[in-house]
Amino acid sequence: MIDDPSLLVLLDDAPAAISVQRGPELRWEMANAMFRALLGGRPLVGRTLAETLPDWSQMRRIVEGVLRDGKPFAAHQHRLLIDPHGTGALEDAYFDFVCQPLYAGGVVTGVLTFAVNVTTEVLARKRVETAATELRHAVDARDEFLSVASHELKTPLTALRLQVQALQRSVTRAPDQQFSAEQLRARFDAADRQVQRLVELIDALLDVSRLQHGAIDLDVADIDLAALVAEVVERARTTAGAAGSTLTLEAPPSLRARVDGSRVDQVLTNLLSNAVKYGRGKPITVRLAAEHHSRPTRASITVSDEGIGIAPEDHARIFERFERAVSRTHYAGLGLGLWISRQIAQSIGGSLTVESDSGKGARFTLTLPL
Ligand code: ADP
Repeated sequence: MIDDPSLLVLLDDAPAAISVQRGPELRWEMANAMFRALLGGRPLVGRTLAETLPDWSQMRRIVEGVLRDGKPFAAHQHRLLIDPHGTGALEDAYFDFVCQPLYAGGVVTGVLTFAVNVTTEVLARKRVETAATELRHAVDARDEFLSVASHELKTPLTALRLQVQALQRSVTRAPDQQFSAEQLRARFDAADRQVQRLVELIDALLDVSRLQHGAIDLDVADIDLAALVAEVVERARTTAGAAGSTLTLEAPPSLRARVDGSRVDQVLTNLLSNAVKYGRGKPITVRLAAEHHSRPTRASITVSDEGIGIAPEDHARIFERFERAVSRTHYAGLGLGLWISRQIAQSIGGSLTVESDSGKGARFTLTLPL
């Protein structure tokens, strides 16, 4: 029994949880302020361990084990569930602690526990570890991205170089062996397509860094959305045709809207280029519709294809940066178009969603407030 008053005050104020239980039933002989706080401040002294701690309590099992085996128990950063409010709402806590058997006349008669709460330190360390793991993943993603981006940039660059070399060879040949006007035009067209592809890739990369560093600037104006959609569709008609896809537009003759036309153009161009790329040469349809509540309030633009489609488990993922649901060997791409498009859709107060299944084509819907 500890009865020296100054020792009791010292123990009560100690920056560690200290307790003593005695006897075969392990009755609490003392529990200092910090120990009582771990158990919700309930009165403990005089009661048995079984009355005060539930069956599942690890603390109870440890103390009972020390009494039974007569061996000390020590642990570092040991996780325990505590009931700090006495309401049964348990919380995780971590302790450095020792449980020491107390002897009288050569037999174990009780258990002394000394525990330092290291929860704050452990949680801080876990936070640092989580941050380090996230950082490692970010570095891995960046490396992977650099490798994909270099590969993507290299492909049109290599093709461009071949065209230029062919043109160079042609000018050094005798006049009658040089490219005809027809051949020259074909070579220049091919070179122009590669340059266009490079510009698109670099624009996507620039957009990513812009979008990451804050909202995009919007240039909202009163425009005819129907005319804009028709213009984008016309622009895509040649590439769609080259891929074997027909392009159909279903839209009202005119639809006035206050939107950033260049951003709508960018999203629609992107959706159309995906529909052509993943559309297996099947028909593509673009629909523009307005939701009316006495006057038009929202517009939706859907781009539907009958191509390879997207499995439902990939629907969320493909809108993330660098995420793709196709193999790199079959389809070129950076995996940025849909991320950029959705960021733009959201920044203009709209949304971009997908409906699709593997092999069953895809339908992307851009909605816009008018
Ligand atoms: P990228 O086309 O460069 O890979 P995107 O961000 O535009 O990047 O698209 C992400 C992924 O979504 C694509 O890799 C592809 O797996 C899938 N996807 C996008 N559009 C379609 C579509 N119309 N049909 C099938 N899959 C598509």
